[in-house]
Amino acid sequence: MEKFTTDAITLRSYNLSESDKIIVMYSKDKGLLRCVAKGAKKPSPKIGSCFDSLIASQVLIAKGKKLDTIDQSQGINSFSGLRKDFDKLSYAMYCADIINAFSIEGDLGSEEIYELFYNTLNAIAKSKNKLNTILCVTKFQMNLMEILGYGLELNNCVKCLCPIGESAVFSKEAGGVICPDCTADYNNQISSKLVNFFKKIAGADFENKYFVDEPIKNELTIMYCFNLMKDYIQIRSPKKLKAQELLGIV
Ligand SMILES: [Zn+2]
Repeated sequence: MEKFTTDAITLRSYNLSESDKIIVMYSKDKGLLRCVAKGAKKPSPKIGSCFDSLIASQVLIAKGKKLDTIDQSQGINSFSGLRKDFDKLSYAMYCADIINAFSIEGDLGSEEIYELFYNTLNAIAKSKNKLNTILCVTKFQMNLMEILGYGLELNNCVKCLCPIGESAVFSKEAGGVICPDCTADYNNQISSKLVNFFKKIAGADFENKYFVDEPIKNELTIMYCFNLMKDYIQIRSPKKLKAQELLGIV
């Protein structure tokens, strides 16, 4: 029987029968995986680590005719900080929901997506306050969309391609900024300061002080960026994102 090993983060699980479960994971090497885990009621220590959501494990998988089976799993990171804080857990589940909605088996960019997801969960687990958590998730939203080919256009007007000046309008539908000459709808004005903030968050790595313990002065800016990305992702998502309801911000 063909077998393979990969690192994977459990997104969710559901019952297949009384004794077996399906574990849905996002893997480093093969993108989304749906595998049978035997002995759901009494998981053996050999495969126990992957039963809980939002845990990274190294898994050994046996290929099956219809469904693959998890033969072994060894925990890599349980992101324990996530489980002690309801907000952190909710935002992490929101990220898992987005990964699940946009992923397919055999994703070409799976390693990059896996690393981003892993680093985001790690950063959320370590973040010192709710705004730091939301900032980590905003970076995740922007970077993931970029990897998937839905990156925002923040430099040039999406209609006439001219460079954007001091102010512009953001269009969720068009996925970027529109100059004042190309639109009569000024509802979603976005300043150059905000555009720069977006770029800074997308480009900084998770070790940067913004994501760790920087006292956040500008709550409104952060919430604006997060919500804008949330709506942008919802428009493009092939599935309804359920975890948004947990955040109380739908
Ligand atoms: Zn224009």
